[in-house]
Amino acid sequence: MSINIKVDAHTHTNCSDHAFGTIWENMRVAAERGLELVCMTNHTRPMPDSPHNWHFTTMHELPEYIEGVRLLKGCESNVLNKRGEISLEPSLLERAQVVVASIHQPCYEDRAMIDHTETWLNVLKNPYVDILGHSGDSRCPYDIDKVARAARDAGKCIEINNHTYSVRPQKSIENCRKIAEKCKEVGCGIVVSSDAHTPWDVGNFSSALKMLEEIDFPEELIMNLSAEKFIGFLRASGKNI
Ligand SMILES: [Zn+2]
Ligand SMILES: [Zn+2]
Repeated sequence: MSINIKVDAHTHTNCSDHAFGTIWENMRVAAERGLELVCMTNHTRPMPDSPHNWHFTTMHELPEYIEGVRLLKGCESNVLNKRGEISLEPSLLERAQVVVASIHQPCYEDRAMIDHTETWLNVLKNPYVDILGHSGDSRCPYDIDKVARAARDAGKCIEINNHTYSVRPQKSIENCRKIAEKCKEVGCGIVVSSDAHTPWDVGNFSSALKMLEEIDFPEELIMNLSAEKFIGFLRASGKNI
């Protein structure tokens, strides 16, 4: 089985200081690689490298298509605590076309916490959140069975983040596999994302896809296989796209 993914649901531009590509450069690579849709999901405050909030008020001035590839303007918001609160004002979350919610150590209040199950279950109750970002991070373990079932019931996706394979502890890679296996078992949707920080990484899903192919992951549960499928997923969760 060879999985062909046409949507990159999580990418950064140089509006986040830790990333290097302009939106135009990212979209050129997306076009060259045959992608149909890219989500621009820069960090939000208080992440130290995040753009000013005005980034999220003006991003809608970008065209709907760049280099022939559809662009969705979203954000990667920080999960702040076990109550599942995320950082960005509701008025800006409402304008974001896609919201990835991720735990980032510098922004997380309950750093000493060992089990993040309650955190993720609460994040899933947030109507603005579409995708649980890089939850395979081994520094933030959780009960995968409970969260995958809750994500399925809430109509949200758990991300399999390709960037995790190169930057996060080895145990995170094992976690990504466990998450995918559980999603397959309980019927929870996933998205596969590059989390690109440079244009050269846009559309790079190679490590995640290798794992998904090894476990014979069902394509019907990959919500970002095509632009049509991904937009349908977002619309089903109430996004006006
Ligand atoms: Zn992140
Ligand atoms: Zn990211």
